[in-house]
Amino acid sequence: MLAPPVFESSDFSRGALHVVEQLQDEGFDAYVVGGAVRDLLLGKRPKDFDVATNATPDQIKQCFRNARIIGRRFQIVHVRVAGEIIEVTTFRRGHDVARSEQDARASQSGRLLRDNVYGSLEEDARRRDLTINALYYDTSSNQFIDQLGGQADVIDRIIRIIGDPAERYREDPVRMLRVVRFAARLQFDLESDTESAIASVRTLLRDIPPARLFDEWLKLFMNGSSAPTFRLLRHYELLAPLMGETASFAIEGEPALELQALALTNTDRRVADGRPVTPAFLLAALYWPAVQACAEQLTASGESPLQAMHSAGQQIVQQACQQLAIPKRFSLAMRDIWDLQPRLERMQQKKIKDHLAHRWFRASFDLRLLREQTHSLGDDCSAFWTDQQKRYPELVGSARARQEERGERPPRRRRRNRDS
Ligand code: ATP
Ligand code: MG
Repeated sequence: MLAPPVFESSDFSRGALHVVEQLQDEGFDAYVVGGAVRDLLLGKRPKDFDVATNATPDQIKQCFRNARIIGRRFQIVHVRVAGEIIEVTTFRRGHDVARSEQDARASQSGRLLRDNVYGSLEEDARRRDLTINALYYDTSSNQFIDQLGGQADVIDRIIRIIGDPAERYREDPVRMLRVVRFAARLQFDLESDTESAIASVRTLLRDIPPARLFDEWLKLFMNGSSAPTFRLLRHYELLAPLMGETASFAIEGEPALELQALALTNTDRRVADGRPVTPAFLLAALYWPAVQACAEQLTASGESPLQAMHSAGQQIVQQACQQLAIPKRFSLAMRDIWDLQPRLERMQQKKIKDHLAHRWFRASFDLRLLREQTHSLGDDCSAFWTDQQKRYPELVGSARARQEERGERPPRRRRRNRDS
């Protein structure tokens, strides 16, 4: 028997402590749950705190001044406390019976359509995805609840699906991606049934709405562990179901794969250093091998290099979006980054200022550098553009800002929360 851990109040955020206390004062059960408890067991500072309770969303809302019910797949409540947002969920049961014939037909593959039926803490634990995520901690009494062996799995560094893995993947195929995400991020191993079941159900990911896959893509690739995540996705043959066939367009050991790997490690390094990262650059690099191959074909059939790159970009984005709903602002940027590749290569004097001022110049230049590093291209082009950037530093990426100044383009709007 493992001794239950005891955490300090200072291990939790003020918001999390407040939300648990307030719910308990109103007579409800409330626990910090999931990733935060797992991270504390690992000695890490959690990045955010989730709370689980037996209060319903309406009851939760009544306990707090600043609470909002949100949710697409199921209702959750966001409670804002001193600038922090605590996600509060009601204990739920995993299974819901199909309520209409249409639902029944849609769920023939075993996919869960609704999981909004409330339940006990025991049921709530069992409907979660992984043992290491089914941990509860009462911050008032220091009670630790682990009914499914999550603590032992954290210690042994094991990712284990709760229940029958194939069945749980069929209910929600995105769990396969979550398994990979946690394995890569935490450097844990997959328990053998959790691992072996993937092969029989991986194609079900193709039925997941592309918008949900893109949300998951961001979590997989923008969290600082994109390089190991990409390796595991390839290993379990999940890359094509996630990003479409074109993204797996790179053969082991080829320069294309090296280029993808470098883009991923560069992105992870930026995240580790707290520098900004854009999904557009990484997406442009990951789909680059496919775009390049497509553009080469078009050039061979007589199109000019610029036109070929433009059409190839259009085709690849269109193919990718059948699987992954890449938002327009990113796909347009990807295409700009690709379009600039043959243009940079020309090193035309009269275009220097235009190219430097292009909003995506830096990202294009970075892709060019990766291509030179991996495709034995020689570095004349990047040396040329390095000089130009030194010559006109104020121009780099300035076009958009100037257009905004001149009123030719509305100023950038702040992005709205997609859940609102
Ligand atoms: P992170 O540190 O990435 O936030 P997390 O464990 O908190 O990790 P979330 O994606 O925030 O992960 O999800 C919160 C909790 O909800 C998880 O701990 C898990 O128990 C549960 N959960 C999320 N998605 C699923 C799913 N698809 N199936 C079952 N349970 C899920
Ligand atoms: Mg979380």
